Amino acid sequence: MLIDILTLFPEMFDGPFDHSIIKRAIEREIVKIKLHNIRDHGVGKHKVVDDYPYGGGEGMVMMPEPLHNSLKTLNIDKDTPVVLLTPQGRKFDQKTADDLAKHKRLVFICGRYEGVDERVRQHMVTDEISIGDYVISGGELAVMVVVDGIIRRLPGALGAEIEQDSMMNGLLEFPQYTRPAQYEQWEVPPVLLSGNHAEIAKWRRQQSIERTAVRRPDLLKNAELSASERQYIEDEMKDK
Ligand code: SAM
Repeated sequence: MLIDILTLFPEMFDGPFDHSIIKRAIEREIVKIKLHNIRDHGVGKHKVVDDYPYGGGEGMVMMPEPLHNSLKTLNIDKDTPVVLLTPQGRKFDQKTADDLAKHKRLVFICGRYEGVDERVRQHMVTDEISIGDYVISGGELAVMVVVDGIIRRLPGALGAEIEQDSMMNGLLEFPQYTRPAQYEQWEVPPVLLSGNHAEIAKWRRQQSIERTAVRRPDLLKNAELSASERQYIEDEMKDK
């Protein structure tokens, strides 16, 4: 996969992409990330990229021309998603990560200031994504979250652990423990030490369902659950 990121602050990406899973995926050539400085296509000799909003108001707005010219240099084909990071977009979730991970190439645009001229949304992007219902100062941190979520889903980027992550089957992950079996007076649930894999799997599944029902009941609607599991939630979990 090739990921192009258009940003006014390419130096912000030094670090987050140089560690752990993303670093390994880059080294294994599973993904290539190219950073493009929008200012290279700024207007005039001062390379201006923003201007005052028509109609008045606070702050600056990113002009369409530098973004349009940046995009033109990428030779994007019509099937490549061009994604604007914006709090006004659809909320990023596991399904969106999975869908985007199927593409060979992705282009992301990081906004700054008061955001981008509306004509960028209307004519240059195919998708708008938000990382949540809050406003941060720029699209850079948002795209790091999104790109990390996508790269985890690329074949070969992770080991076998992926299937049990929270959200993978629409449920939160079960509680995890490691050594020691007793720390202070806090003990690991005995079933996890039993060596009985069928019982462990059953316990984990039940914990996953209960945890989701208590913490994120909204997820249950689309979770992969059997009829008896749905009945269990109905009978046992409604008062929790
Ligand atoms: N005035 C804009 C609005 O209300 O929609 C917000 C501008 S914000 C200060 C600057 C940039 O940060 C945005 O253009 C966007 O790229 C990014 N940004 C802020 N919050 C975000 C979020 N929740 N998800 C994705 N990107 C976000």
